[in-house]
Amino acid sequence: QAKNAGRNTLRFFDPQMQASIAARAEMEHALRKAIDDQQFALYYQIQVDRLSNPLGAEALIRWNHPEKGLISPAEFIDLAEETNLIIPIGRWVLETACAQIKAWQKSVQFRRLTLSVNVSAKQFNQHDFVSQVSACIQGYEINPGLLKLELTESMLLNNIDTTIEKMNALQAIGIRFSLDDFGTGYSSLQYLKRLPLSQLKIDISFVRDIAIDENDRIIVRTIIAMAKSLNLNIIAEGVETEEQQRLLFNKGCINYQGYLFGHPVKIEEFEALLSRVV
Ligand code: C2E
Ligand code: MG
Ligand code: MG
Ligand code: MG
Repeated sequence: QAKNAGRNTLRFFDPQMQASIAARAEMEHALRKAIDDQQFALYYQIQVDRLSNPLGAEALIRWNHPEKGLISPAEFIDLAEETNLIIPIGRWVLETACAQIKAWQKSVQFRRLTLSVNVSAKQFNQHDFVSQVSACIQGYEINPGLLKLELTESMLLNNIDTTIEKMNALQAIGIRFSLDDFGTGYSSLQYLKRLPLSQLKIDISFVRDIAIDENDRIIVRTIIAMAKSLNLNIIAEGVETEEQQRLLFNKGCINYQGYLFGHPVKIEEFEALLSRVV
């Protein structure tokens, strides 16, 4: 602490700030070690159609910390972005997802499942993102139509022309795109129609109170109308109750993801769940 600092001197060493800087540095160090020691795992959450038939899964990363146990992405993705560690992490996610698609492709039961993968802004903005993804597809010899990349509105806005170029290049090799957390960003129809998307994902914040909040019902109806006019598939995230599902269905949303159908789980558990529902 800068005890002797004069009246007009900035105090840089606020102990609380210092503690959080130390915690951050420690977390960054742990994250680097996690990459080296492969402490990450992908969990799989089922996505279903109107009859609750499985369509595929979303891959969601977890950090299996040797002392702290399972850590959710909400706790480390931001730091990973700030420190660029999201680059090796994102590459690992993509590799692991493609390896999983490969494994499913060989099975009669699972060969049609799609796998959605979250892509971060830093990852997408890398100049060689397109070649990274296509190399992965080729390396694993997978059907590119089974891989869906989840992007968010905010990451696409910055440099729209480059974004469109990259998306077009990936779409040309058969990869599909879903716009995640839809409705929380600022995209207009005007620019949405320029993006080669195949799916809009209604954000959980509109699903949560759909049974009690008329405004959310109106928003959901508008999103669905928008998706239809753009010829896009639509899926709702965060569906926890049958009532939410019914309301979504009545408004024209027929694909769902949420705890009502299954939590994100390890691959063994995911495949066991599918064996029960199929
Ligand atoms: P997201 O892509 O919007 O993922 C959906 C989140 O909602 C997941 O949280 C999922 O576990 C949670 N969820 C699913 N169904 C329900 C439900 O019925 N109720 C509620 N309350 N929540 C539900 P999770 O796994 O903690 O992931 C949080 C965010 O972290 C993701 O949001 C995504 O933005 C990011 N993320 C996850 N995995 C990756 C990854 O591999 N790479 C990158 N860049 N980001 C990732
Ligand atoms: Mg997602
Ligand atoms: Mg989402
Ligand atoms: Mg969300």
